[in-house]
Amino acid sequence: MNLFETHAESATPSPICSAKGCRDAAVWVLAWNNPKLHTPERRKTWLACDAHREHLSSFLGVRGFLKDVVTLAEWESPAADR
Ligand SMILES: [Zn+2]
Repeated sequence: MNLFETHAESATPSPICSAKGCRDAAVWVLAWNNPKLHTPERRKTWLACDAHREHLSSFLGVRGFLKDVVTLAEWESPAADR
């Protein structure tokens, strides 16, 4: 069994945590905006595993960039009113 091939063939490759050096599957989506670079309605996203959600959200939070933290499933849900 070739794990790499299985992964490559997957229609939805599992997103990976954005934390430096982390290869864990992302569970959380951190939506953020840098008012100096982005228009107010613009949303950049970072992905985080359970272990890094707090680390990454506090990094954005202290800078006043963090807008939203939702689960990946919630973020991708078409039911969201966007
Ligand atoms: Zn992580």
